[in-house]
Amino acid sequence: MRFQTQRPASWQSCIACGNEMVETDPHSRCTACGGLLEIQHRPPAMTPAELIQRFTERRGGQPGATASGVWRFREIVLPSADAVVSHPEGNTPLLHRVALDSWAGVENLLLKHEGHNPTGSFKDRGMTVGVTQAKRIGAAAVACASTGNTAASLAAYAAQAGLPALVLVPAGGVATGKLAQSLAYGARTLLVRGDFDDCMRLAEQASEQLGVYLLNSINPFRIEGQKTIILEMLQQLAWEPPDWIVLPAGNLGNTAAFGKALREAKRWGLIERLPRLAAVQAAGAAPFARSFAENFARRHRVKADTVATAIKIGDPASYDRAVQAITETEGVVLSTSDAELLEAKAAIDASGIGCEPASAVTLAGLRHLVTTGVVKPAQRVIAVLTGHILKDPGQLLRYHQELEPPPAGANRPIEIEADLREIERVLRKQSLGPSAHAPQGDNAHF
Ligand SMILES: *Cc1c(COP(=O)(O)O)cnc(C)c1O
Repeated sequence: MRFQTQRPASWQSCIACGNEMVETDPHSRCTACGGLLEIQHRPPAMTPAELIQRFTERRGGQPGATASGVWRFREIVLPSADAVVSHPEGNTPLLHRVALDSWAGVENLLLKHEGHNPTGSFKDRGMTVGVTQAKRIGAAAVACASTGNTAASLAAYAAQAGLPALVLVPAGGVATGKLAQSLAYGARTLLVRGDFDDCMRLAEQASEQLGVYLLNSINPFRIEGQKTIILEMLQQLAWEPPDWIVLPAGNLGNTAAFGKALREAKRWGLIERLPRLAAVQAAGAAPFARSFAENFARRHRVKADTVATAIKIGDPASYDRAVQAITETEGVVLSTSDAELLEAKAAIDASGIGCEPASAVTLAGLRHLVTTGVVKPAQRVIAVLTGHILKDPGQLLRYHQELEPPPAGANRPIEIEADLREIERVLRKQSLGPSAHAPQGDNAHF
């Protein structure tokens, strides 16, 4: 459709053919060509300074949806929304640990920990917007394909909204914490005998033919919510962008969201220059890294295999949007082996922060980029930790208790008799002094 006069606040457009659709259109793809949709907003009717002041006023302490780290930015997320389904979510910290600076080889690494969201991953930021939109258009039911975190998040927000939820996950391929959440929040959970890419195909067919509203990250409203990882980060940095933002890349929804957030923030005067994106995949699931190495000459599809189940995706749905994000930010795409990402994860965990396996590709990837001279040690880097350490307890227990020989940093538990002398023996044998565990400089000061 074409708009004759004043445009509405927001509408949908196809990134392939430019076809425009109204904001309330429930289709998950362009109805003309099947391309990916993107939300367009009329530029906010405020100066950048006024906009920033409004975001600052809303930060912290407010009751209701304004307390949300997503809806605080509603002028550039979903300006036409009046009632929203919010937990609230967001407001995640930027963390610093000296030990991780040295592990990666940089001087100033900050970790934006999205595992602090209500269901333990960044998916909540997209889901609050997606489920809000589902309510606004009167969807009868919502659905997604998932490697686990989208399912957990959809299940929670659909429960809050009173909407039936259907989730499709690969049988035997979901981390325990995520499957447990989906069941507990009450989603109808289908264990599909296939991989994530099979689940994705099936979910798209179900949305087209059975009329359920699809809430995978091909849904452009989820992308709008995930943009707020960037907006909140920029706000935390007083709108002074870092040099690099490093993130894990699976289905590429987040890579796409980061690119769109940065593009709009620059266009609307919130920032003056763009940071560079570094998207990191697991080596066994790296079709996007492969395309990047060929200057995006063509799209690749692989059979995915990695311990990082959240990014175990062979045919990323948001490929076209993500190419734009990497190109516009002069970004890079790389991959790390499972051994490297698990070593990085052990370092993040041992620093007291902790994250799920997929999140740790950021630190492993950053070390690569420093070693190869792409990132300079003095540059300011933000790594996005996408999920909580307790999402995948199975992997943790295998790593620390079971693997032979014990991998780097494995912390074996010791079974003892109920006898004080046994504790004494352990203390004598191990140097449990504070020096080994508390690197200088991680104390907080007032
Ligand atoms: C979903 C997810 C990712 C991958 O994000 P994409 O948008 O699919 O690229 C990475 N880490 C965690 C923990 C996730 O839940």
